[in-house]
Amino acid sequence: MSARTVLPLVKTVTTVTALTALVLVTTGCTSTKTAGSGGGSQISLVTEGKLTTCTHLPYEPFQFRKGNEVVGFDVDIVDLVAKDLKVTQEIVDTPFEGIQTGEDLNAGKCDLAAAGMTITPVREQNLDFSGPYFDATQALIAKKGSPYISLASLKGKKLGVQQGTTGETYAKKNGAGVETVQFEDVALLLTAVKTGQVDAAINDNGVLFEYVRKNADTAVTAEFDTGEKYGIAVRTGNTALRKKIDEVVKAARADGRYDALYKKWFPAAPKK
Ligand code: GLN
Repeated sequence: MSARTVLPLVKTVTTVTALTALVLVTTGCTSTKTAGSGGGSQISLVTEGKLTTCTHLPYEPFQFRKGNEVVGFDVDIVDLVAKDLKVTQEIVDTPFEGIQTGEDLNAGKCDLAAAGMTITPVREQNLDFSGPYFDATQALIAKKGSPYISLASLKGKKLGVQQGTTGETYAKKNGAGVETVQFEDVALLLTAVKTGQVDAAINDNGVLFEYVRKNADTAVTAEFDTGEKYGIAVRTGNTALRKKIDEVVKAARADGRYDALYKKWFPAAPKK
Protein backbone atom coordinates (compact mmCIF):
# COMPACT_ATOMS: atom_id res chain seq x y z
CA MET A 1 0.00 0.00 0.00
CA SER A 2 2.70 2.45 0.90
CA ALA A 3 6.18 3.06 -0.36
CA ARG A 4 8.13 5.03 2.18
CA THR A 5 11.36 6.73 1.32
CA VAL A 6 13.99 7.90 3.69
CA LEU A 7 16.29 10.78 2.87
CA PRO A 8 19.98 10.50 3.71
CA LEU A 9 20.91 11.29 7.30
CA VAL A 10 21.72 14.86 8.13
CA LYS A 11 24.24 15.24 10.91
CA THR A 12 23.61 17.83 13.57
CA VAL A 13 25.59 19.16 16.47
CA THR A 14 22.92 18.35 19.05
CA THR A 15 25.17 15.95 20.93
CA VAL A 16 28.33 14.12 20.01
CA THR A 17 26.48 10.85 19.77
CA ALA A 18 23.17 11.95 18.29
CA LEU A 19 22.27 11.95 14.66
CA THR A 20 19.29 13.91 13.56
CA ALA A 21 17.73 13.04 10.28
CA LEU A 22 14.97 14.35 8.15
CA VAL A 23 13.01 11.42 7.01
CA LEU A 24 10.34 11.43 4.40
CA VAL A 25 7.56 8.96 4.53
CA THR A 26 5.37 8.95 1.50
CA THR A 27 2.24 7.03 0.96
CA GLY A 28 1.41 8.30 -2.49
CA CYS A 29 -1.66 10.42 -1.85
CA THR A 30 -2.76 13.82 -3.10
CA SER A 31 -1.98 17.04 -1.32
CA THR A 32 -4.07 19.81 0.17
CA LYS A 33 -3.10 22.63 2.47
CA THR A 34 -5.94 22.21 4.88
CA ALA A 35 -8.09 19.24 5.50
CA GLY A 36 -11.63 19.30 6.79
CA SER A 37 -12.05 17.81 10.24
CA GLY A 38 -15.57 16.76 9.50
CA GLY A 39 -16.89 19.07 12.19
CA GLY A 40 -16.64 22.26 10.19
CA SER A 41 -13.31 23.45 11.62
CA GLN A 42 -10.25 23.35 9.41
CA ILE A 43 -7.01 21.60 10.16
CA SER A 44 -4.05 23.59 8.92
CA LEU A 45 -0.80 21.77 8.32
CA VAL A 46 2.75 23.10 8.58
CA THR A 47 3.56 21.81 5.10
CA GLU A 48 1.03 21.59 2.33
CA GLY A 49 -0.11 18.08 1.57
CA LYS A 50 1.81 16.55 4.48
CA LEU A 51 1.04 15.48 7.99
CA THR A 52 4.42 16.17 9.57
CA THR A 53 5.32 14.00 12.55
CA CYS A 54 8.07 14.69 15.05
CA THR A 55 9.60 11.59 16.58
CA HIS A 56 12.85 10.36 18.03
CA LEU A 57 14.42 7.34 16.34
CA PRO A 58 14.90 4.57 17.10
CA TYR A 59 12.10 3.47 19.42
CA GLU A 60 11.35 -0.02 18.17
CA PRO A 61 8.65 -1.24 17.69
CA PHE A 62 6.99 2.20 17.76
CA GLN A 63 9.27 3.92 15.22
CA PHE A 64 12.52 2.69 13.75
CA ARG A 65 14.39 2.40 10.47
CA LYS A 66 13.98 -0.74 8.45
CA GLY A 67 16.09 -0.49 5.32
CA ASN A 68 15.10 2.78 3.70
CA GLU A 69 11.84 3.07 5.56
CA VAL A 70 10.68 4.27 8.92
CA VAL A 71 8.17 1.79 10.26
CA GLY A 72 6.41 0.95 13.51
CA PHE A 73 3.20 1.02 15.47
CA ASP A 74 3.13 4.81 15.89
CA VAL A 75 3.97 5.30 12.21
CA ASP A 76 1.02 3.13 11.23
CA ILE A 77 -1.35 4.89 13.64
CA VAL A 78 -0.39 8.31 12.25
CA ASP A 79 -0.71 6.95 8.71
CA LEU A 80 -4.38 6.28 9.50
CA VAL A 81 -4.80 9.95 10.39
CA ALA A 82 -2.89 11.08 7.29
CA LYS A 83 -5.02 8.83 5.12
CA ASP A 84 -8.19 10.27 6.62
CA LEU A 85 -6.90 13.78 5.86
CA LYS A 86 -5.91 12.65 2.34
CA VAL A 87 -2.30 13.72 2.84
CA THR A 88 0.97 11.85 3.29
CA GLN A 89 2.94 11.47 6.49
CA GLU A 90 6.40 13.02 6.70
CA ILE A 91 8.57 12.07 9.66
CA VAL A 92 11.11 14.39 11.26
CA ASP A 93 13.62 12.67 13.53
CA THR A 94 14.58 15.01 16.31
CA PRO A 95 15.81 14.78 19.94
CA PHE A 96 13.16 13.74 22.47
CA GLU A 97 13.72 16.83 24.62
CA GLY A 98 12.35 19.23 21.99
CA ILE A 99 9.39 16.91 21.48
CA GLN A 100 8.36 16.53 25.10
CA THR A 101 8.77 20.22 25.95
CA GLY A 102 6.42 21.24 23.13
CA GLU A 103 9.24 23.30 21.61
CA ASP A 104 9.17 21.54 18.24
CA LEU A 105 5.40 21.81 17.95
CA ASN A 106 5.45 25.50 18.92
CA ALA A 107 8.20 26.17 16.39
CA GLY A 108 6.08 24.65 13.62
CA LYS A 109 8.57 21.84 13.03
CA CYS A 110 5.72 19.37 12.86
CA ASP A 111 1.95 19.04 13.16
CA LEU A 112 2.06 16.31 15.75
CA ALA A 113 4.46 14.26 17.83
CA ALA A 114 4.16 10.49 17.98
CA ALA A 115 7.06 9.12 19.97
CA GLY A 116 5.83 6.47 22.38
CA MET A 117 5.28 9.51 24.57
CA THR A 118 3.62 9.17 27.94
CA ILE A 119 0.86 11.60 28.85
CA THR A 120 2.06 13.50 31.95
CA PRO A 121 0.70 16.57 33.77
CA VAL A 122 3.98 18.45 33.21
CA ARG A 123 3.97 17.83 29.46
CA GLU A 124 0.28 18.74 29.31
CA GLN A 125 1.24 22.26 30.36
CA ASN A 126 3.30 22.63 27.19
CA LEU A 127 1.37 20.70 24.56
CA ASP A 128 -1.99 19.00 24.09
CA PHE A 129 -2.36 15.21 24.00
CA SER A 130 -4.81 13.07 22.11
CA GLY A 131 -6.67 10.49 24.14
CA PRO A 132 -4.53 7.50 25.22
CA TYR A 133 -3.69 5.08 22.42
CA PHE A 134 -1.32 2.67 24.19
CA ASP A 135 -0.60 1.42 27.74
CA ALA A 136 2.93 1.15 29.05
CA THR A 137 4.90 0.69 32.20
CA GLN A 138 8.54 1.07 33.16
CA ALA A 139 10.76 -2.02 33.18
CA LEU A 140 14.33 -3.04 33.94
CA ILE A 141 16.64 -4.73 31.48
CA ALA A 142 19.91 -6.43 32.35
CA LYS A 143 22.12 -9.20 31.09
CA LYS A 144 20.47 -12.60 31.38
CA GLY A 145 21.07 -14.17 34.79
CA SER A 146 22.09 -10.88 36.38
CA PRO A 147 21.03 -10.18 39.99
CA TYR A 148 19.50 -6.77 39.17
CA ILE A 149 15.84 -7.40 39.64
CA SER A 150 14.79 -4.19 41.42
CA LEU A 151 15.97 -0.63 41.97
CA ALA A 152 17.03 -1.65 45.50
CA SER A 153 19.32 -4.32 44.07
CA LEU A 154 21.05 -1.61 42.02
CA LYS A 155 22.26 0.39 45.03
CA GLY A 156 25.83 1.50 44.29
CA LYS A 157 25.48 0.17 40.73
CA LYS A 158 25.05 1.90 37.39
CA LEU A 159 21.58 2.23 35.91
CA GLY A 160 21.22 3.54 32.36
CA VAL A 161 18.39 6.00 31.75
CA GLN A 162 17.19 7.70 28.60
CA GLN A 163 17.33 11.48 28.77
CA GLY A 164 14.07 13.31 29.40
CA THR A 165 11.93 10.20 29.71
CA THR A 166 9.50 9.01 32.33
CA GLY A 167 11.94 6.16 33.05
CA GLU A 168 14.60 8.66 34.05
CA THR A 169 12.14 10.46 36.32
CA TYR A 170 11.03 7.18 37.90
CA ALA A 171 14.59 6.01 38.52
CA LYS A 172 15.64 9.30 40.09
CA LYS A 173 12.58 9.36 42.33
CA ASN A 174 12.66 5.74 43.43
CA GLY A 175 16.27 4.65 43.09
CA ALA A 176 17.97 6.02 46.19
CA GLY A 177 21.67 5.20 46.07
CA VAL A 178 21.52 4.09 42.45
CA GLU A 179 23.95 5.82 40.10
CA THR A 180 22.07 6.87 36.97
CA VAL A 181 23.93 7.20 33.68
CA GLN A 182 22.15 9.25 31.02
CA PHE A 183 21.91 8.27 27.33
CA GLU A 184 20.48 10.32 24.50
CA ASP A 185 18.57 7.50 22.87
CA VAL A 186 17.41 3.97 23.53
CA ALA A 187 19.87 2.36 21.09
CA LEU A 188 22.84 3.75 23.03
CA LEU A 189 21.16 2.80 26.30
CA LEU A 190 20.64 -0.83 25.28
CA THR A 191 24.11 -1.18 23.81
CA ALA A 192 25.48 -0.02 27.17
CA VAL A 193 23.63 -2.89 28.88
CA LYS A 194 25.07 -5.39 26.41
CA THR A 195 28.62 -4.14 26.74
CA GLY A 196 28.45 -3.90 30.53
CA GLN A 197 28.92 -0.13 30.58
CA VAL A 198 25.89 -0.07 32.88
CA ASP A 199 24.56 -2.85 35.12
CA ALA A 200 20.95 -2.39 34.01
CA ALA A 201 18.72 0.11 32.22
CA ILE A 202 15.19 1.40 32.68
CA ASN A 203 12.78 2.08 29.83
CA ASP A 204 9.27 1.35 28.61
CA ASN A 205 8.20 -2.30 28.69
CA GLY A 206 7.10 -2.53 25.04
CA VAL A 207 10.52 -1.45 23.80
CA LEU A 208 12.45 -3.65 26.23
CA PHE A 209 10.41 -6.78 25.49
CA GLU A 210 11.02 -6.27 21.78
CA TYR A 211 14.75 -5.93 22.44
CA VAL A 212 15.07 -9.07 24.59
CA ARG A 213 13.11 -10.99 21.97
CA LYS A 214 15.94 -10.20 19.55
CA ASN A 215 18.82 -10.25 22.07
CA ALA A 216 18.77 -13.52 23.98
CA ASP A 217 21.69 -12.48 26.19
CA THR A 218 19.47 -9.87 27.87
CA ALA A 219 16.35 -10.15 30.02
CA VAL A 220 13.58 -7.98 31.41
CA THR A 221 14.12 -8.46 35.13
CA ALA A 222 11.37 -6.26 36.62
CA GLU A 223 8.30 -4.27 35.68
CA PHE A 224 7.13 -1.30 37.71
CA ASP A 225 3.45 -0.55 37.68
CA THR A 226 3.65 3.05 36.52
CA GLY A 227 0.34 2.86 34.62
CA GLU A 228 1.51 5.06 31.75
CA LYS A 229 -0.52 5.90 28.67
CA TYR A 230 0.87 7.15 25.39
CA GLY A 231 -0.71 10.10 23.66
CA ILE A 232 -0.10 11.80 20.33
CA ALA A 233 0.78 15.44 20.94
CA VAL A 234 -0.26 18.56 19.08
CA ARG A 235 0.55 22.21 19.69
CA THR A 236 -1.43 23.68 22.59
CA GLY A 237 -4.79 24.78 21.26
CA ASN A 238 -4.69 22.76 18.03
CA THR A 239 -8.05 21.28 18.90
CA ALA A 240 -9.08 20.50 15.33
CA LEU A 241 -6.14 18.15 14.78
CA ARG A 242 -6.36 16.66 18.28
CA LYS A 243 -10.02 15.83 17.73
CA LYS A 244 -9.27 14.35 14.33
CA ILE A 245 -6.63 12.03 15.87
CA ASP A 246 -9.11 10.93 18.55
CA GLU A 247 -11.81 10.34 15.95
CA VAL A 248 -9.50 8.24 13.76
CA VAL A 249 -8.12 6.17 16.67
CA LYS A 250 -11.64 5.57 17.98
CA ALA A 251 -12.82 4.40 14.58
CA ALA A 252 -9.76 2.17 14.19
CA ARG A 253 -10.41 0.57 17.58
CA ALA A 254 -14.02 -0.06 16.61
CA ASP A 255 -13.41 -1.59 13.18
CA GLY A 256 -10.44 -3.84 13.97
CA ARG A 257 -7.68 -1.80 12.33
CA TYR A 258 -6.17 -0.96 15.72
CA ASP A 259 -6.16 -4.65 16.75
CA ALA A 260 -4.53 -5.63 13.46
CA LEU A 261 -1.74 -3.11 14.03
CA TYR A 262 -1.33 -4.27 17.61
CA LYS A 263 -0.92 -7.86 16.44
CA LYS A 264 1.47 -6.80 13.70
CA TRP A 265 3.85 -4.97 16.06
CA PHE A 266 3.36 -6.89 19.32
CA PRO A 267 3.01 -10.49 18.18
CA ALA A 268 4.02 -11.90 21.56
CA ALA A 269 2.03 -9.54 23.75
CA PRO A 270 -0.56 -11.17 25.98
CA LYS A 271 -2.81 -8.12 26.33
CA LYS A 272 -3.35 -4.53 25.19
N1 GLN B 1 7.30 6.78 27.26
C1 GLN B 1 8.52 7.41 27.65
C2 GLN B 1 8.33 8.87 27.89
O1 GLN B 1 7.35 9.39 27.48
C3 GLN B 1 9.64 7.18 26.64
C4 GLN B 1 9.40 7.82 25.31
C5 GLN B 1 10.56 7.73 24.33
O2 GLN B 1 11.69 7.52 24.72
N2 GLN B 1 10.32 7.87 23.07
O3 GLN B 1 9.15 9.52 28.47
